[in-house]
Amino acid sequence: MVLEGDERKGPESTSHDRNGVPVHWVLVQGIVMAQSRGQPSDIRGQHPLWDERDAFGRRAMLTEILAQVSHEALQGDTLEAVLKAIVDCITRRLPVTIASIILLNEARTHFVQEVWSGRIELELPGGMPWPVTLGAAGRCARTGASQLITDLPNDPDYVPGNHEVSSEYIVPIRHRERLHGVLNLESTRSDFFTPEVCAAFDAIAEQVAGAIHAARLLRELETANRRLRELTMIDGLTGIANRRCFDLRIAEEWQRHADLGTPLALLMVDVDCFKALNDALGHLQGDECLREIARLCGSGVRGDDDLVARYGGEELTVLLPGCALADAARVAEQLCIGVRERRMPHPQSPAGEYVTVSIGVAAMHPSRRVSPQDLIAAADRALYSAKRQGRDCVATLAAAAE
Ligand code: GH3
Ligand code: MG
Ligand code: MG
Repeated sequence: MVLEGDERKGPESTSHDRNGVPVHWVLVQGIVMAQSRGQPSDIRGQHPLWDERDAFGRRAMLTEILAQVSHEALQGDTLEAVLKAIVDCITRRLPVTIASIILLNEARTHFVQEVWSGRIELELPGGMPWPVTLGAAGRCARTGASQLITDLPNDPDYVPGNHEVSSEYIVPIRHRERLHGVLNLESTRSDFFTPEVCAAFDAIAEQVAGAIHAARLLRELETANRRLRELTMIDGLTGIANRRCFDLRIAEEWQRHADLGTPLALLMVDVDCFKALNDALGHLQGDECLREIARLCGSGVRGDDDLVARYGGEELTVLLPGCALADAARVAEQLCIGVRERRMPHPQSPAGEYVTVSIGVAAMHPSRRVSPQDLIAAADRALYSAKRQGRDCVATLAAAAE
């Protein structure tokens, strides 16, 4: 196949060579490359891009590919997209029939993911996960050393996938001490993997290792950030949502239920005579009591959107989106009974022998005339009404807009 300047018609075009075989021209990184469409170019030894170059031209090509791999390693939205672009680049530009990056699990006992590019079918026994005790790729992972195999039929570990393949080069993908996987290259030629070519693949494997390391770091950072964000929403003592989380959620639910035209109910739960409990049993026992009441509140709600939060001190809130006043009052009654029946000792309570709570309940239809603060204020007023009624009880307040 001869490159003829006047046949190169732009970034992508098709022409025919002298034998009438269609040739697909692509512009990759400023280099015009021919891809035969009629026949895969390296089956039975044909690979004009490589064959028509002398030693100097081939060296230049390996350098170009390395540059392209470095470029690809910095692009792509996902690690898989980056790795795919790299293996595609290798099989497109070199007489490599199959190029794949096979990634190991954390324990390095199994290959768990393969990003593959190739022009022939492989028939391998078994799929992923693939134990490192098997195959030449496994040997590479086990020993941590590159494997050049030019006599495939006599290699004790080689698992034949296609009889067209005559030689294989497998390079460990390692970043510092950590082995991430292997770069596996298979060719239909027995003489392709010269020391110079192998050195280029060693360098490519290092680029791949850098890309995997960066992607894993990014993923770990994202996980740590998500965890941190979650922690900023959790109350340290009780493990339930904190005030910040409550403020955000009530604002969100307010908006959502304003659009839906459905009500929002709120319970304000306050431990009765909690100061006296602390004074009598100590603050640690007081803390334990708060944890238990938070747990009882959590088990008392059922809806996916319901939220139990620590509003502050010994006051908890239960947000019941989509719930009307009568239903919210029933939840509150059950909770009030639940705490009383839990029989946590309270030696100093005027309301009885055990820990009790008072609960204020309010509900509203969100609208432009009222805000979440109005709902909180209404539940608070109801709570003080419950306290005035003698504690250990529920008071409801049909707020103005309900
Ligand atoms: P009332 O029945 O009127 O609600 O009386 P009360 O004693 O519960 O209310 P008051 O507001 O007088 O006291 C609340 C107490 O809650 C005072 C404070 O020390 C205690 N408290 C607030 N936060 C915590 C906490 O995290 N742990 C413990 N152990 N106590 C807390
Ligand atoms: Mg209080
Ligand atoms: Mg109290």
